Amino acid sequence: MAASVLLAPEVLAQYQPVIGLEVHVQLMTESKAFCGCVNKYGGEPNTHVCATCLGLPGALPVLNRKAVEFAVLAAKAIHCEIRERSVFARKNYFYPDNPKGYQISQFDKPIAEHGWLDVPEGDGSSGAMKRIGITRLHMEEDAGKSLHDGFADSVSRTYIDLNRCGTPLLEIVSEPDLRSPDEVFEYLTRLKEILLYTGVSDCNMEEGSLRCDANVSVMRKDAREFGTKAEVKNVNSFRYIRSAVQYEIERQIGVLEDGGRVVQESRLWNQAEGRTYTMRSKEQAHDYRYFPEPDLPPLVVSEAWQQEILRELPELPEARRARMIATYGISEQDAMTFTATRAFADQFEAAAKQAKSARRVASLLTSEITMRLRAGEMEMADSPVTLEGLVLAADLAESGEISSKMLKSMLDTAFANREDFKAVYEREKPQQISDSSVIEELIDAVIAANPKQLEQFRGGKRTVAAFFVGQVMKASKGQANPALLNELVVKKLDAA
Ligand code: ADP
Ligand code: ZN
Ligand code: MG
Repeated sequence: MAASVLLAPEVLAQYQPVIGLEVHVQLMTESKAFCGCVNKYGGEPNTHVCATCLGLPGALPVLNRKAVEFAVLAAKAIHCEIRERSVFARKNYFYPDNPKGYQISQFDKPIAEHGWLDVPEGDGSSGAMKRIGITRLHMEEDAGKSLHDGFADSVSRTYIDLNRCGTPLLEIVSEPDLRSPDEVFEYLTRLKEILLYTGVSDCNMEEGSLRCDANVSVMRKDAREFGTKAEVKNVNSFRYIRSAVQYEIERQIGVLEDGGRVVQESRLWNQAEGRTYTMRSKEQAHDYRYFPEPDLPPLVVSEAWQQEILRELPELPEARRARMIATYGISEQDAMTFTATRAFADQFEAAAKQAKSARRVASLLTSEITMRLRAGEMEMADSPVTLEGLVLAADLAESGEISSKMLKSMLDTAFANREDFKAVYEREKPQQISDSSVIEELIDAVIAANPKQLEQFRGGKRTVAAFFVGQVMKASKGQANPALLNELVVKKLDAA
């Protein structure tokens, strides 16, 4: 939790936070951006390297075609315009994990610009959506890593692992259009979803495949110009980013309320302490001396190539949600849960198409199954409930063939034994009552106990039959043969 700066709500309410995000994503190409080295997380330090990514004199970069295709795919998915002729640039800075002394990036002619992403406005309670501008998406390469921990002499030494050098990156820069930590969280959640859908990145934040810097400023609500921003770096989960941005907003308001000025600087978020602190001030800021990369020609993405790439563009989360809500009658909330990953949405849809009730599938997946996956710290892919098992469970619940208590207990068994639901059901399913005389007896008792409903049925409201079926099924503890039960209830009611 963020250490609170303790400002009165009336004071906070006088200020408008303004936030713009810079997101870096590593692309899932086979090889690195400008050489043939394998592009893979981890590995023995300094083994995925060559003359080019080590920046040895004379080694020349060759652009990875797949990285360009991923850039175009991601850019289109966030509604950017593609620049037909973009230019790589050298961003010069010295740091031990950057052996070339510069990073190949793009500067004034990035591959894509002018995109947008819609997010729920404010805290989402109004239901209104708000469009967040995306200034640009450009291509660049990652640096290596400095290692400080886990060595006996780490006080006097820094170790360097250059495996990550030259990993292809996209940087996606938003306009300063975000106005709250909630909007920041939503923007990132939706951006991540889109990147996962397009398959350009695994967006694994723990491994650093997706990283975010938040630029934060505050202004008095009656002011006409934005305040001075500070950039919060090094936040490695969306939840932390929400706390970090909230903290930074309150810190800046505190500074202004004390009569001070916000200093333009880079700050680091410390999750353990719940605060940000100065990393480098504007005076220490780099002058990158950008200039066009002389070793790479301008990148030309023709209209024809764009079209070819776009054939790979899948249905995106926003459109998929709308379609799923319309097709299956599920809630916005459930649709949001399913579209978090393509695999989850695919699983829901496959089951929804086969099952008697799509909504039953939705509720099973979002409650009973998700709950058990969480408890077992399992991924959806490890779920013991296969597609077939899921459809069966949903249909059994829908028809009332098994009680919800029985369903829960069978799911418990399936998860405990890592056994498919279907196998558990086959073994433990209730003995069905298919003896008509037994069922008829139950029906007679239920009819006798519910004269009002009987009256309604006689008055022509035939749908009341379902009520009787449900009551009898309950009385039989879910064991009555459903087809037989249906038939007999109608017969009995007609005769009653
Ligand atoms: P810089 O030149 O300092 O890198 P940019 O104009 O390139 O700044 O913007 C970098 C990021 O900061 C963008 O995401 C942008 O939306 C955001 N940003 C710019 N000005 C502000 C501001 N006053 N408050 C919050 N964010 C801002
Ligand atoms: Zn290499
Ligand atoms: Mg900038």
